[in-house]
Amino acid sequence: MRDDFEQAIAEPVRLAALESLDILDTPREAAFDRISELIKLIFDVEIGIVSMIDAHRQWYKSVIGLPNNEVSLDGTFCRYTLQLAQPVIVPDATLDPRFADNPHVTGEPHIRFYAGAPIMTATGQVIGTICAIDKRLRPFGERETAILGHLAAIVMRELELRQEASTDLLTGAGSRRAFKEEAGKFLALATRHRTPLSCIALDVDHFKRVNDTYGHAAGDQVLAGIAQAMRSELRQSDFVGRMGGEEFAVLLPQTELATAAQVAEKLRHVVKGLRFTGSNPPIQVSASFGVAALSPGDDIVSLLNRADQALYEAKRTGRDRVCRAGTPGATEKINPRRVLKAGQIVFDHGRAAFDCTIRALWDNGAEITLSLPTAIPDSFELVVKATAERHHCVLTSRSAGAIEAAFAT
Ligand code: GH3
Ligand code: MG
Ligand code: MG
Repeated sequence: MRDDFEQAIAEPVRLAALESLDILDTPREAAFDRISELIKLIFDVEIGIVSMIDAHRQWYKSVIGLPNNEVSLDGTFCRYTLQLAQPVIVPDATLDPRFADNPHVTGEPHIRFYAGAPIMTATGQVIGTICAIDKRLRPFGERETAILGHLAAIVMRELELRQEASTDLLTGAGSRRAFKEEAGKFLALATRHRTPLSCIALDVDHFKRVNDTYGHAAGDQVLAGIAQAMRSELRQSDFVGRMGGEEFAVLLPQTELATAAQVAEKLRHVVKGLRFTGSNPPIQVSASFGVAALSPGDDIVSLLNRADQALYEAKRTGRDRVCRAGTPGATEKINPRRVLKAGQIVFDHGRAAFDCTIRALWDNGAEITLSLPTAIPDSFELVVKATAERHHCVLTSRSAGAIEAAFAT
């Protein structure tokens, strides 16, 4: 059974489907809180959860009745719902051999009853679950199971609609999907007319702190303000897209690298000069920028990747700055920065191993999220499960839920 779980959780197609939805680690939202609330009301349970499952944890997009925002996958009921890809009802966990000695059953929160349904994409990938949990036994028949299934389908539809939208509702910027579509057109024009095309990628610095200090509503306001300020600085013909949480990208037609870098520098000043006066003291932020220009042989993915790598360079060398990408060499291997892969961190001569989720992977390092980053030593081995590739790593940074590592050569 353990192997079946591992396989289902680490399945690369499943993780790619989850990654494309861009939902992990985003703040609470009413659309999903409403589903947890309905679970609680309809089934008369204490705990209602809408969760996404990455390679090492179950992360709650919405939760009622529990204090935490995520749990490590070991021992969760929802692993079964994910692996079986159908509703799982556990009428009495103390009588179920799968769960009777589970620490969540024998200890807090003393689960007796569980009902879960998979959140499944149109292509059959289970990206998460919704579930109803209680300390008491609950009546749960076919009717209730059907309702739970419909609620899971509503969650999936909400996620799909966002993905299909061309405008991001919060910031008014283009969606990631719209950006890719526009980029295709820009690229075709630039190639046909042999005109320059540049791309700026930017990411707000330490944005998590803004949320943690001032709350998500204030964070939302900052994102909307940044997008608005950028639009008023840019040309009408430039295209701004929100690529994910606090990451934006701009396409600048008819623009060489040097000019695009000047534009990025101007945007950097503008972002830094913004003051959000709803809070006291007013919120002030900075952003890091990466700039790349179209080179022969580039497609939109490689152009964006190079802007993204320059952005990473700007982050690495101190943030609040603009870095330019080099032109791609013929033999240069460009790796996508953002990935979602199942991994394992191994140390102590193979005696200790932790499951993790690889969130970014470069030629020379990786960004990794895992449940207990503090338990990881300064050097370890990282295994990428899908390909079994192994890297000797040296830890370069450690924060609440994530670590960054450089590959030792
Ligand atoms: P870095 O300088 O390395 O970019 O640090 P960071 O804190 O900005 O980066 P990280 O990726 O750790 O955190 C990004 C945060 O952005 C976490 C997430 O909760 C927040 N976020 C993502 N989308 C939204 C949103 O729509 N609204 C708000 N308020 N916050 C968001
Ligand atoms: Mg950031
Ligand atoms: Mg970011």
